Amino acid sequence: MTKIQADLHIHSCYSDGEPTPREILMKAVQKKLRVISITDHNTFLGSVEAIRLAKEKKIDILVLIGNEVRTLLGDVLLYCSAPIEIKPYPDLDELSDIADESGCIAVPAHPFDRVRKGIGAKGLELLGKKLYAIECYNAFSSKLVNDKAHKYAEFLGKKCLANSDAHTLKAIGAFSTIMEIDLEEGFEGFRKAIISQPLEPNHHETTLLLYLDKWRWSLARRIKPRECF
Ligand SMILES: [Zn+2]
Repeated sequence: MTKIQADLHIHSCYSDGEPTPREILMKAVQKKLRVISITDHNTFLGSVEAIRLAKEKKIDILVLIGNEVRTLLGDVLLYCSAPIEIKPYPDLDELSDIADESGCIAVPAHPFDRVRKGIGAKGLELLGKKLYAIECYNAFSSKLVNDKAHKYAEFLGKKCLANSDAHTLKAIGAFSTIMEIDLEEGFEGFRKAIISQPLEPNHHETTLLLYLDKWRWSLARRIKPRECF
């Protein structure tokens, strides 16, 4: 088992993020992240490409196949051993069933951030027993909603993840989760870690610089979207 830092919510050019999977991998090495997931909106493509590149370039980072799925109730991060078929805008309980059948791990993203489509208390209760962890700390959510998620996780007896939700390179690793994991086991090691090991969310105040960088990108991509291919 190794104690590592993970950032499990990153966007690439395969959805609305600025960096390519290659750039994300380089930044993750620099930030000493040993486990990452590229969770593009409604697609596994970013993480699949990062896995291919990490193998090709012999980069010692475990990349989890991930997706930030927009359900009818809000956003859920999905981590899987292989991409799975998901219809657009599934019901939350439908997604939860598919995740369960496929051995994926579902983690609600920023659950109390209504502006950014969190699933809220209703969604958390709906997921119930199938839930192992909640994204309590998102680097671009307010302290208020992050604290609320933390309190709710305690109330439900669930663990907390801290993630960057980076859409630009600078934000990668801004928040992270420290966990004990057997890296040799790949996705299975992650599954065991999230189910049975303690998780330590590593978070602090997000700097104005990161917000400015995010706003810069959200303007820039409206003028000229980044080509991923
Ligand atoms: Zn996101």
